[in-house]
Amino acid sequence: PKKTTSSAQPTPMMAQFLEIKAVNPGCLLFYRMGDFYELFFEDAEIASKALGIALTKRGKHLDEDIPMCGVPVHAAQDYLKRLIGQGYRVAVCEQMEDPAEAKKRGSKSVVKRDVVRLVTPGTITEDDLLPTSSNNYVATLAMLRHGENTFAISYADISTGDMFYAEMEPSAVTDELARIEPRELVLTAATRDALIEAGGLPPSADIQLAEERAELFDSDLAGDRIAKYFAADQLDPSAYSRLVRAAIGALIGYIDETQRGAQVPLRLPRIGGANTMMIDAATRASLELLRTNRGETKGALRHCLDNCVTAGGSRLLSARIAAPLADPASINDRLDMLDDFARDGLLITDLRGRLKAAPDLVRALTRLSLDRGGPRDMAAIGASVIAAGHLLAPLSQIHNPSQGVQKLLGALDAAPQELADHLARALAEELPLLPRDGGFVAKGYSQELDEYRSLATESRQIIAALQAEFAEKTGIKSIKVKHNNVLGYFVEVPAAHGDKMMSAPLNESFIHRQTLANVVRFTTAELSELQGKITRASEAAVAIEQGIFGQLRDEILAQTKPLQDVADALAELDFASAMALLGLERNYVRPKIDQSTAFDIDAGRHPVVEMMLQKEGTTNFVANDCDLSGPEDKGEMGSLWLITGPNMGGKSTYLRQNALIAIMAQMGVYVPARSAHIGVVDRIFSRVGAADDIAHGRSTFMVEMVETAAILNRATARSLVVLDEIGRGTATFDGLSIAWAAVEALHENTKCRALFATHYHELTALSERLDRVSNHTMKVREWEGEVVFLHEVGAGTADRSYGIQVAKLAGLPDHVVTRAQEVLDILEKREAGSMEEGMNQLPLFAARPQPKPEKHKDLLAQKMKSINPDEMTPRQAIELIYELKKLS
Ligand code: ADP
Repeated sequence: PKKTTSSAQPTPMMAQFLEIKAVNPGCLLFYRMGDFYELFFEDAEIASKALGIALTKRGKHLDEDIPMCGVPVHAAQDYLKRLIGQGYRVAVCEQMEDPAEAKKRGSKSVVKRDVVRLVTPGTITEDDLLPTSSNNYVATLAMLRHGENTFAISYADISTGDMFYAEMEPSAVTDELARIEPRELVLTAATRDALIEAGGLPPSADIQLAEERAELFDSDLAGDRIAKYFAADQLDPSAYSRLVRAAIGALIGYIDETQRGAQVPLRLPRIGGANTMMIDAATRASLELLRTNRGETKGALRHCLDNCVTAGGSRLLSARIAAPLADPASINDRLDMLDDFARDGLLITDLRGRLKAAPDLVRALTRLSLDRGGPRDMAAIGASVIAAGHLLAPLSQIHNPSQGVQKLLGALDAAPQELADHLARALAEELPLLPRDGGFVAKGYSQELDEYRSLATESRQIIAALQAEFAEKTGIKSIKVKHNNVLGYFVEVPAAHGDKMMSAPLNESFIHRQTLANVVRFTTAELSELQGKITRASEAAVAIEQGIFGQLRDEILAQTKPLQDVADALAELDFASAMALLGLERNYVRPKIDQSTAFDIDAGRHPVVEMMLQKEGTTNFVANDCDLSGPEDKGEMGSLWLITGPNMGGKSTYLRQNALIAIMAQMGVYVPARSAHIGVVDRIFSRVGAADDIAHGRSTFMVEMVETAAILNRATARSLVVLDEIGRGTATFDGLSIAWAAVEALHENTKCRALFATHYHELTALSERLDRVSNHTMKVREWEGEVVFLHEVGAGTADRSYGIQVAKLAGLPDHVVTRAQEVLDILEKREAGSMEEGMNQLPLFAARPQPKPEKHKDLLAQKMKSINPDEMTPRQAIELIYELKKLS
């Protein structure tokens, strides 16, 4: 017979691994072996690199060493977090039986294992993996080949149970994704290609793509999946269009796949983004809503406003910044609620103090329903419900409350207090993370449990008393009774007494167990019996605790709906009271919002810059008015303000502040101004301080033109357009002509409210020809040859651009500044003679540089030393080249 080499045959364990690996493609497989998750083959190579852990080997497969690495189970969370952060998906494969069971089946038999869950960026539920102050969405994108609304997106935050859907045209996909910012987007390869064609992923977002098979998006299968998932709610899937059905069905399918069937407490899908202000991806980036252009959260609007005391409130704030409303009635409802709180600062303080006692209820609820929760999650739910109860009294003091507050009162009043009382009675003070080892049920809750516990305690006391007895019996004073996990309870004597213990008569009662270097260990019949009692009592106690845990869990899950409502109410209350407090502390006002096309801001401020200046404490922010309201008798139309002024004069700040005021007003919060009247804005476009899109290989000019096109094509008469310096980056006349034509188009065709900042002073002539265009400028004062920026917007046109003064402030070398002034004087006199003639009048080589002082070399060397090429983005690299050039 042919001889087979044993190494060509995988071991039974390897065979099991390969089988499980084959049905979970695209994932790193965490294969549970005792106290470790092990990774093999390519997975091991990837993970050891990604995590910086040692790569070892274990056995052979097809005559090759099998690469392996592992992470301890107790620290797995941290490793998972890092892998997910780097964009990997992990399949967690657990032992499904006690290894002892497998042994009973035969020595070669392997422990049963199975994947219990796929961990992907969009489907995590653990607090330390999740962002606290924003949602963590997983989204599916479905596509039709023809038709008007050719894309549908469905998205859910598994950790909170919120679920949404929306349908849209191809041109709107990128903007929708920018609003939602899912962590993970599930689609087919064909949809991915179509998405790229439609504009691709929003440039600023960090979205992981998960490609899935087309079958997941089958709309017939989807219908069944939806009906089954929401069977209790009797949801009829045919209420949705086929496309939406496909997206929702795929989402449910994907969630099921990653959670391996464990039911996530999803709420009924709601339409997402309906009746909200449209903000495209570029505007979000330009206005630095959730993060700054550098990707930092500090310095963004969200950070500036986040004054919430609960995680739910913070998440609601993020969601509302991402999607301001476009309907005056709902905006005013939110504002009415803020008014209820703002009338009474003491009430706000009181409410916030009580809100602080409410932990993250919804996320605890999700973990419990996925059987991933522990006693602390139960305690969190109990504490939230109790906090909800404590909020009722102060809230009901509000005189003549708004509808919003009445609704809150209703939801808080319906909080399942009995459940909370039960939890408070059942749970101990100090709680373990996991239910596994027991120890979380309070004393006095279960008589049976207490009996077993005291049995164990009594036995331990008897054992403790035994030590003295043993000492007397043996005459060995240093004899000790000790405990470890291997031997249980045992008697220990120093090695010198070993012989005495092992000879008659002592050897009759002391049974030798172990000899170590310095000590010898024994057991006795009495000890073993007590040990057995303790073990049995502890096991019985843990079993009882598990039973109690299961009951409590069922009781909690039965209240899922009211608990979710309580969580919503707590978040809403936190949001409203926090925003009311901001109003009081920072002097924000309630905006007047209606259906007009007014935009009348009196003494407006930039919320973030104002805060920054306040922190620095050097200067005060200069408030500025802005009135873009159209003529009242002419229907829907707005005015256009042309803004000129020197660099550093405050143009960008002014432009952005007005856009931010519009956004805050429509979020339904108070705004930084003395007063504000805003006719609801349907779409907002802001292009301020556009950066080169180097990553996509497009120049500033190209980007700007593409975006200007997008604005002119999509803005309506109800929109707000805020543009900075269109036409930069090309020859002066091209740029001027494009800017000119854009202003005309905004005024004549779009007729929307617009702010237009420009360096082309020639544009200001347009105000004479176009009736709703007016000129405004950032005021500057000259003082002994220096410029002082007043940051004040006034009527008129900047008389000069002060570029040279600004350059001087920026530290341009003196001889260059002097030369520039000379060239400028000639250019300004150009009308008198030809340019060449003028230039000829200047002394030749006037700008010859002074010999460079040694200092520059030092600076250059210093700069070179500080460079770390591995940590630079392409953009930083280019900036550095310019900087080095300046130093050389
Ligand atoms: P520009 O866009 O005209 O170059 P910026 O808007 O960037 O100018 O403003 C330059 C700096 O001036 C800002 O960093 C800010 O510190 C300050 N500044 C701008 N507007 C104001 C204001 N209204 N009040 C006080 N300081 C301001």
